[in-house]
Amino acid sequence: MKYFLHPLGCATNKADAERIATMLETVGYSAAESEKDANIIGIVACSIRQSAIDRIYGKVHNWNKRKDAEQLITFVSGCILPADEKKFLKLFDLVVKLDQVPQIPQMLKEYGAVAPQNFWEINPRRNSTFKALIPIQNGCDKFCTYCAVPYTRGREVSRSSADILAEVERVLSEGYKQITLLGQNVNSYGLDKPGEELHFAQLLDAIGTLADNAPQKVWVHYTSPHPRDMTAEVLDVQAKHPSLANYLNLPLQSGNNDVLKRMNRRYTVEHYMEVLDMARSKIPTMTVSTDIIVGFCGETPEQFEKTIEAMERGRYDLAFIAQYSPRPGAVAEKRFEDTVSKEEKVRRDKTLTEVLKRTALENNQRLVGKIIPVLVENASRKSGMMLGRSEGLKSVEFAGDESLIGQFIDMKITQADSWRLYGEKYI
Ligand code: SF4
Repeated sequence: MKYFLHPLGCATNKADAERIATMLETVGYSAAESEKDANIIGIVACSIRQSAIDRIYGKVHNWNKRKDAEQLITFVSGCILPADEKKFLKLFDLVVKLDQVPQIPQMLKEYGAVAPQNFWEINPRRNSTFKALIPIQNGCDKFCTYCAVPYTRGREVSRSSADILAEVERVLSEGYKQITLLGQNVNSYGLDKPGEELHFAQLLDAIGTLADNAPQKVWVHYTSPHPRDMTAEVLDVQAKHPSLANYLNLPLQSGNNDVLKRMNRRYTVEHYMEVLDMARSKIPTMTVSTDIIVGFCGETPEQFEKTIEAMERGRYDLAFIAQYSPRPGAVAEKRFEDTVSKEEKVRRDKTLTEVLKRTALENNQRLVGKIIPVLVENASRKSGMMLGRSEGLKSVEFAGDESLIGQFIDMKITQADSWRLYGEKYI
């Protein structure tokens, strides 16, 4: 009996899929190479964009056709809007909300395996032997108007720090070399349990101490912080521990205060830039990425100009630029008109990409001639060269072989373009 999982969307969904995989293996399923070999197929849904929802419908229709000829169980889990739940129940055999994942054995009525008490107790079946995703919270209280997460995942709930630290210790003892702490808004970790839990800086400090003392070299990343809640204390902790990677994803979303207000981001561009400057003054080698939405409801050409200015000022290494599309269930979809045309969104996306290309190139060129550690990830199908990532998650290409996958190697950077560094092994 085999299972196949389709995690759509972000790293949090991928981490959830690893726990769902464990539950399926508890009841005797093993991983299938492809969905056509599977007896049970699950989709870990993303309701962030309409296109992601359309993908879910497209897939389940194909699977349901297969059911005439073979026995196949289908289920959906992950980010599900309450309004979609009933529709999904008509299409899938099971709708498994995240807090129901531990009950998968009972839901499948097989073997009577003992189920863990809660979602976090599940030991995930990791997809990598050297990179571990560790969720520290679920849900979000921020209610950005373009986002449906507070409605799909619910209000913010912090995982117990004892649980998180136990999982960190476990992956370190198993030799993992890169840990990514995941949450919708990591800076507010613990604030939902005042007096009971560590807050984010304290949690990061404890994790940094464990990782610094591991026998292997380790990098710990976290994503995503919220500019409004980022503190000097978090950055001081990050600067203190060698294992806490010098990388920061600080989502800007827009460079105009009126647009930020309509997005309900609850910070100003000026505050954002203060946080960014503070991060760079505490950790001068910090690699910084950001998230931007272009063409948000009512964004005028003048307001977009402010985003261009902010992009220039931010000197980013990387940016995840999204063209706004209404997200089902989000406030903006009901309250604001999607006024910017598709063509204009494409143009604004290209304009920002050009700015990014320039700042990323300038930042990358500063690394030429330097020797930096790289964690080797895979081989490039296109070039046949090996690919790894720097501490700041920059892609690095070099000549080598697959035996290096999962290892840290020192690399002399010989060349750089906007999106990649090129180097040679330094002995
Ligand atoms: S911080 Fe905003 S964008 Fe991020 S998950 Fe929460 S509501 Fe969504």
